[in-house]
Amino acid sequence: METFDTIVIGAGMSGLAAGIRLAQYDQRVVVLDRHSLWGGLNSFYKKKGRRFDVGLHALTNYVPKGTKGRPLTRILRQLRIPYDALQLGEQTGSRVSFPGVSLRWTNDFEVLRAEIADKFPGQIDGFDRLVRDIAGYPDLVEVEGEPPMARDELKAYITDQTLVEMLLLPLLYYGSPTPDDVEWASFIILFKSLYEEGFARPEGGVRTVLDLLRNRFKELGGELRMNNGVSRILSGQGGVEGVVLDDGTELRAPVVLSSAGYVETLGLTEAADVVSSADVGPLTFVEYLTVLDQRPADLGHDDTIVFFNTEDRLVYGPPEKGALVDDRSGVICCPDNYASAEPLPDALFRLTLLARHDTWTAMPEDEYVAAKERIWESAHATAAPYAFDARPHAVYVDGFTPRTIQKFTGHLGGAVYGSPRKQRSGRTPIDGLFLCGTDQGYLGIVGAMLSGIAMANQHALAVR
Ligand SMILES: Cc1cc2nc3c(=O)[nH]c(=O)nc-3n(C[C@H](O)[C@H](O)[C@H](O)COP(=O)(O)OP(=O)(O)OC[C@H]3O[C@@H](n4cnc5c(N)ncnc54)[C@H](O)[C@@H]3O)c2cc1C
Repeated sequence: METFDTIVIGAGMSGLAAGIRLAQYDQRVVVLDRHSLWGGLNSFYKKKGRRFDVGLHALTNYVPKGTKGRPLTRILRQLRIPYDALQLGEQTGSRVSFPGVSLRWTNDFEVLRAEIADKFPGQIDGFDRLVRDIAGYPDLVEVEGEPPMARDELKAYITDQTLVEMLLLPLLYYGSPTPDDVEWASFIILFKSLYEEGFARPEGGVRTVLDLLRNRFKELGGELRMNNGVSRILSGQGGVEGVVLDDGTELRAPVVLSSAGYVETLGLTEAADVVSSADVGPLTFVEYLTVLDQRPADLGHDDTIVFFNTEDRLVYGPPEKGALVDDRSGVICCPDNYASAEPLPDALFRLTLLARHDTWTAMPEDEYVAAKERIWESAHATAAPYAFDARPHAVYVDGFTPRTIQKFTGHLGGAVYGSPRKQRSGRTPIDGLFLCGTDQGYLGIVGAMLSGIAMANQHALAVR
């Protein structure tokens, strides 16, 4: 039977980052994933000769080379990956659009500040105070009991309800597992990573980041085993003992770090009754990737990302029972509108909408295919006023749904931001079994890597 110092479940951003960190300290570490491709929620695939990224809208937390102490530069330093290897191209600018008003921002925070001063002059002092107050907040705080929520906390700073809704929409779409609101601690992280820092795209897309992580892990002697699903986590009196793979093979280790999710991980253990279906995150999405016959800029659209809301109050929650999507809000991303050394191989229009897992999964295959086509049509009609009508320019369309997300990542309910019950300490009821990634409370690509590093440092290196 093989024995390791640490077993990592999941070859997404957090699992690979954790693996690198442990291998740097000469641990014998294996990263296991059920899927054949690494990357998890932010992976890549090839279809009809075209390469697609699964999720990449933006690498958040953009800061210029040499910036000290920010999440992006911290993770690169800890993983010993040179900044230039990411080949980042900055956004041209993004926008949140509500009826009658929109706010634009770039990677220069002053742009957003000036927009707010111009469109909500009575709110700028409160906004400045908010920025000052959250500056000193630690990245992640453990909260006893019910965590404070952003809507309540924001009342002390911003009194115009439209501005509250507008500031929240992008942050919820890029990281809230909770309908209509987000924990205050997560709000602060997201505010800094989206508005104060900003968006960039690695040249070559998510593959660039994933290749760096995978190659670094392997160079350090780490073992990456794809098509190796974990069917059970073994534990005894002294805590975790190892895992059993789908084919029955047992691997032993005194520490297991899992990025599979809180409910999903405990479901593999003796402590499965600690969680219930109520802990499964309710937020999931459909995303369409439409290859265009022209570049978005040639069609008059320069924004990198547009978050739109068709009503005065933000719409962020699972669609009502029986519905497939809720297209009263959504996100449009045009990867061409990042600075890039080379034009992208395909001009692309990505459209993301809130979706309902049970409706998409209940359908037989032919209805599912027809529903995907129908929703593509209606959703792009809804989104057109916020960018342009992509339909007459479509040369190829692909898309994924909550069903696809669950199938390829194992996340129950296709929950992109995991469970609303975050485990900030990474601890589970089983000694030696820890969580990393989405359900530890850091979100997105940069957040997931930060989580992998932090959990490896705290739990898997500390025990030796
Ligand atoms: C459509 C979409 C768009 C997104 N856009 C962005 C974006 O633009 N910017 C951004 O920063 N973030 C984005 N995200 C979020 C980002 O992708 C995630 O927050 C991040 O990748 C999570 O990484 P992770 O390592 O925590 O988890 P995951 O990526 O979910 O990795 C978990 C891995 O565990 C594996 N696994 C699960 N169960 C088992 C098991 N039993 N045995 C073996 N392996 C198992 C899965 O196959 C998976 O590979 C997006 C997500 C989606 C879905």
